[in-house]
Amino acid sequence: MTEPMVIRGADVAAEVYRELSTELSEFFAQGIRPGLAVVLVGDDPASKAYVGSKDRKCRELGLHSLKIELPATTLMPELLGRIEELNQNPAIHGILVQMPLPKHLDEQTVIRAIDPRKDVDGLHPVNLGKLVMEDPTGFAPCTPSGCQRMLQFAGVETAGARVVVLGRSLLVGKSIALLLVSKGVMADATVTIAHSRTRGLPALCREADIIIAAIGKPNFVTADFVREGAVVIDVGINRIEDPEKPGSYKLVGDVAYAQVAPKCRAITPVPGGVGVMTIAMLMANTAKACRLTATML
Ligand code: NAP
Repeated sequence: MTEPMVIRGADVAAEVYRELSTELSEFFAQGIRPGLAVVLVGDDPASKAYVGSKDRKCRELGLHSLKIELPATTLMPELLGRIEELNQNPAIHGILVQMPLPKHLDEQTVIRAIDPRKDVDGLHPVNLGKLVMEDPTGFAPCTPSGCQRMLQFAGVETAGARVVVLGRSLLVGKSIALLLVSKGVMADATVTIAHSRTRGLPALCREADIIIAAIGKPNFVTADFVREGAVVIDVGINRIEDPEKPGSYKLVGDVAYAQVAPKCRAITPVPGGVGVMTIAMLMANTAKACRLTATML
């Protein structure tokens, strides 16, 4: 049996950043600096860490970065007011509101308040509509486009491939399915979306050339889900107690990596896989937002 190709997020992201630097140097030469604003409400440690990495990456690439931190007690009118200021700010091309929001704030209302031309997270109904309509002026959500990019990096043929996506969230499952079923490059696949009510999951997955797992259940996809030579993309990020170090935690995916990897042609690890791609695609979407604004002037 040949070793599977391990698709490492860092390698794929490095390729995205190389392409982005070329595009960015053209912007800089014209005196244009793409700008991203990230809004964080409250002090959830994981969200703080994500916002910190986005801010650092912007600075590394030379993008204008605006980090807006608001207290957990912030009310809707204040938050919507801050978003409207960012919508009007010409130095800001992309706006991301870090989810989840504190319970008293309605996420859908907040997402809809963002100007769709600045919605680099791709979750505004206008951008989801453009994803369905295959309109290239829209923004695809970052994690799904990161998965697609990983397949491209690994040289996986998607045209005509049978794909099973486990999970139907808008953020991941449904959006990756839409990307892969679209017409065009790194698409044209035959896609099945599975969820908690799907019957006979292992047999369904064994039919797949490509399995994309996004359900949030540690080590759920076992060897009997996977046919020899399949490609497996593991989106799941689950924190579980480390059996080797009682009292401490580790991150695992939705795929039981040790038993699944030997059957695969290619597989993504967790950590170090899809997670790394989300920020890279956010940076790429910010550059795209800037490019679209510039061409509209
Ligand atoms: P979510 O909104 O909770 O959706 C989970 C989906 O999985 C639902 O559609 C659910 O089905 C389905 N599901 C749950 N249990 C199942 C089962 N036993 N069999 C089949 N389907 C099942 O989660 P999400 O936001 O999509 O995230 C999924 C995972 O990806 C999480 O681990 C999350 O941390 C991770 N994630 C990673 C990144 C990244 O950057 N790598 C980004 C986003 C999310 P129903 O609809 O029927 O309930």
